[in-house]
Amino acid sequence: MTDVFGDLVGQDEAVAALRRAAASAAALLRAPVPAPAGGPDDLDALAEEHDGDPGPADPGAGMTHAWIFTGPPGSGRSVAARAFAAALECVHGTGCGSCPGCHTTLTGTHADVRLVVPEGLSIGVNEMRALVLRAASAPSGGRWQIVIIEDADRLTEAAGNALLKAIEEPPPRTVFLLCAPSTHPDDISVTIRSRCRVVPLRQPPPAAVAEVLVRRDGIAPDVAEWAAAAAQGHVGRARRLARDPEARQRRDAVLAVPRRLTGVGAAFDAASALIEAAEAEAAASVAEIDEAERTALQTALGAGGTGRGAAGAMRGAAGQLKDLEKRQKSRATRAQRDALDRALVDLAGFYRDALIMALRAPVAPVHTDTASLAGAGAQKWDAEGSLRRLEAVLECRAAIEANVKPRIAVEAMMLALWRG
Ligand SMILES: [Zn+2]
Repeated sequence: MTDVFGDLVGQDEAVAALRRAAASAAALLRAPVPAPAGGPDDLDALAEEHDGDPGPADPGAGMTHAWIFTGPPGSGRSVAARAFAAALECVHGTGCGSCPGCHTTLTGTHADVRLVVPEGLSIGVNEMRALVLRAASAPSGGRWQIVIIEDADRLTEAAGNALLKAIEEPPPRTVFLLCAPSTHPDDISVTIRSRCRVVPLRQPPPAAVAEVLVRRDGIAPDVAEWAAAAAQGHVGRARRLARDPEARQRRDAVLAVPRRLTGVGAAFDAASALIEAAEAEAAASVAEIDEAERTALQTALGAGGTGRGAAGAMRGAAGQLKDLEKRQKSRATRAQRDALDRALVDLAGFYRDALIMALRAPVAPVHTDTASLAGAGAQKWDAEGSLRRLEAVLECRAAIEANVKPRIAVEAMMLALWRG
């Protein structure tokens, strides 16, 4: 039986730092010394000892009350945050993986661990205020109150300020675990960053991803190796590719794009197909939860009845429905962007393969199953042409990130790919 850090693929340094912190946190709980009255809590004092260098080389052995897990998508930011939360709630203080503290944290049922997963494009201020308020209460299990914020880069400014206040004056037994792509000011405000210790995660090597797919998910080694390479270090994506035939089909369709670009019309057709595929994938992924939410809200509102106050209740109901629709629309937009981005990453991998083949670089291809096609591309386009195409895909990603309408960005990319 592996412990709670077993699923953190290829992150030895981060795991070592988190183990030290968990041990230090457990020692804190065992310490009989009460915090000085009115003064800063013991956690703060401990954190200050290590504030000198929060960098990756020496993340410090101690515990602190605010952490940021950074790394590329799929590197396991939220997996790391959850594992650390489990280690903090572990009755043995180690993250054994089998005690009730570990178990309930990992299954999302621990009373003192709250997980925020933004569903729309951003985390709002109301959600954050409610969370901060609840996090200030004493931990019911006697260990730590933990708030995990996935995608902390999607906090609104107001929500970020509410969070900052809580991090600046943390309740004695509350720990904040934030996840973000990086500590760039675009992702996380400088003031929040300055209060947190950073745990950088790296992109796990394909071999490490394949190993975990075989060990944990029971996937056949050859399939695991292919999926790990194709997913480019993204563990969740590798798992989906290995297991879900529809995910494989969508990927096949994306990788068919390069050979379909035979003219201007074909380029526009390919753009439409890519956009529509992303829309369809996103719609499928949110449809079920949208419907469940609508039903739940209508049931709750339907119980209102008539009589005194009914008119006011109706007005309130209309507002709530509108809120829900707004949230759902925002979530659908996010899901579409995520789906389109995955497709672009796959496509970038293909042109990257063509480039390394043109350069005869001794590195493994991303897409082993389209390697011969990439080889043909390499011969036709040479290194420069391959690089120009790769750049066209990356520019399309950047444009969409900068809020250019996806269809326009994708059309421009397809034309650039066709013309070379
Ligand atoms: Zn445990």
